[in-house]
Amino acid sequence: MKLVMLGAPGAGKGTQAAVLSEKLNIPTISTGNILRAAVKDETAVGAVAKSYLDAGKLVPDDLILDILTERLAQPDCAHGYILDGAPRTLVQAQTMEQVGIHVDHVLSIEIADEVIEERMEGRRFCIACGATYHVKFAPPVKDGVCDKCGGTLDQREDDKPATVRRRLEIYHAATEPLKEFYAQRGLLRTVENQSAIEETTKMVMEALSI
Ligand code: AMP
Repeated sequence: MKLVMLGAPGAGKGTQAAVLSEKLNIPTISTGNILRAAVKDETAVGAVAKSYLDAGKLVPDDLILDILTERLAQPDCAHGYILDGAPRTLVQAQTMEQVGIHVDHVLSIEIADEVIEERMEGRRFCIACGATYHVKFAPPVKDGVCDKCGGTLDQREDDKPATVRRRLEIYHAATEPLKEFYAQRGLLRTVENQSAIEETTKMVMEALSI
C-alpha cells in the first residue's frame, strides 16, 4: 500500500503512521525526520533546511522532491510506503504525479488547532539525553529537570508558540488544499483524531479497510 498521511503538524500522523507501518510491514518516510537528521549531521541538505525548520516554514519544493525521489527508490519501499509529512503543497503533489510517484490512499487526520497548540507548546526535551516530556500531560517530577539524567529541559524551536501558530497557518494555507486535490481523485479518507490513540487507530483501519 502506498499511503499519504495528511494533517496539521501535531495532529498525530506520526503516531498512526508508526502503527500502520508495523501492521503493514512497510516503511514510514517522514520528510521532517530526514530533514532534522540532515541538520544534525550538518550535510549540504541540512545547511539549506535549517533556517526553514527553525522558523517553522516549508523548505523549498524541489528539495523535498529530491529527498523523496531518492528515498522511495530504496529497496524497502518496493512494496509500499507511508508518507508522513509530504506532500505539503500542491506543487509537491502535482510534481509527484508527474514523476510517477503514485499513491493508493490519502488519509487526513483531523483535529482542532487549539488542541494542537496545547500539545505542541507544552512539549519539552532534555538537552542532555533527549528524553521527552509534556508540562501538562507527562511532566517531570521537578520543573525543568530531566527525571532520567538530571539534565535541563528545553523547548524545541518549532514548538514555541509563535512558530506553532505559523506552522498551523501554513498548514491551512498551503497543505489543506491537498484534501480537495486528492478528493477529486477519489483517494481521500478522513478520520477525526480521538483522545485515545487506539480509538483513532481503529478508525484509521476502518477507513482504509484493513
Ligand atoms: P514535520 O516533522 O513533518 O512537522 O516537519 C518539520 C519541518 O520540516 C516542517 O516545519 C518544514 O520546515 C519541514 N518539512 C517537512 N516536510 C516538508 C515538506 N513536504 N515540504 C516542505 N517542508 C517540509
